[in-house]
Parts: sequence; structure tokens; C-alpha cells
Amino acid sequence: MEGKTKAFLFKVARRGDRSVWRRIEIKGNQTLADFDNIIRLEFNLDNFDHLSEFYSGKNWAHSGYGIITPDGTGEGADIQISSLILYNGAINYVYDFGTETHLYAKLEKISDVEPNVYYPRTVSQNEPHYKFCEECMARGKKTVAEYECYTCSEESEKPVYICGECSESEKHEDHYVEEILY
Ligand SMILES: [Zn+2]
Ligand SMILES: [Zn+2]
Repeated sequence: MEGKTKAFLFKVARRGDRSVWRRIEIKGNQTLADFDNIIRLEFNLDNFDHLSEFYSGKNWAHSGYGIITPDGTGEGADIQISSLILYNGAINYVYDFGTETHLYAKLEKISDVEPNVYYPRTVSQNEPHYKFCEECMARGKKTVAEYECYTCSEESEKPVYICGECSESEKHEDHYVEEILY
């Protein structure tokens, strides 16, 4: 099939929250490990700890292409993009089998590979809807928030967004914070 001469353009979004998306283009002869790697970078998923897997259809447990480890090995790692049988023109992705994150990658276009382009690449992404640090805000300063503090969110029963500087204050010292994906 279309091997190294074709580029596959996918729109990748979180399932359940399609406002955050990336258009990623990857060559037909590149692998699921290559796809996994750029997805981990683009969606703030770590690339040292958790397993992931691509799957077709709805049920990842029954239709997976094989696990991929953070270092790009595993039974699904070497499968080429051009060899995938895409269910509804899409492929699904699950990251971390403990606390699952599901992504949906819709195939939008197949075109000729362009010379002098490094694949896979991110072609476009959603407009960021910035959240602002509420602690800076309280001091009359508008700073883009980098983190959500889940400990504070739970206590105040609403999301608490903070900037990098505020995240290092004593208040959040032992708190669980996570980077916000824009
Ligand atoms: Zn702040
Ligand atoms: Zn906190």
C-alpha cells in the first residue's frame, strides 16, 4: 500500500473534550511508536512511565494493535501507519491503563509526502482558551495559568488554576498539580 510516499493527516482530540486538538501528519511507512511519541509530546502525556495502545472501534481491550512502552517498544510499536485498517477512517488511542486517557484520531487526508519535511509533524492546533492564575488575579495581576492544583480544586469544589510561580509557593507544597493542556 501507500508506504513511504504518502502522508496521513490525522486530527487528534481528546474523547469527551474535543476543544483540545492537534492535526498531526505522519508518513505511511512510519510506525505506531512514532505516532505514540508525538502524541505523548503534544498532549502532555509522559514518555517515561505509562503504557499506551492504539485500537480500532470502541473497545480497546478487544481490538488493540498491541501495547507500546514509553521507550517505543512493545508488540504494537512496529506496525506501519499505512497497514492500519481504519474503522470509520479513525483510530483510537488509550494512554495509561490505570487512569485511562482516550484520544480519537480521525483520518482527514492522504497526500504525497513533501520533500525536506520532517515527519511526523504537528500541522495545526486549536486556539488556546487560556485560564488565568487566580492567586495572581487576587493581587490584581493577570497571569496565564500553567497548572491546575487538584488538591485545591477538590477542597474548593471548583477547578483552581495557578501559574508556575504560584505553584511553587508553600501553600501548594504537598499538593497534586498537573500541567494544563491548551
Ligand atoms: Zn500566580
Ligand atoms: Zn493547591
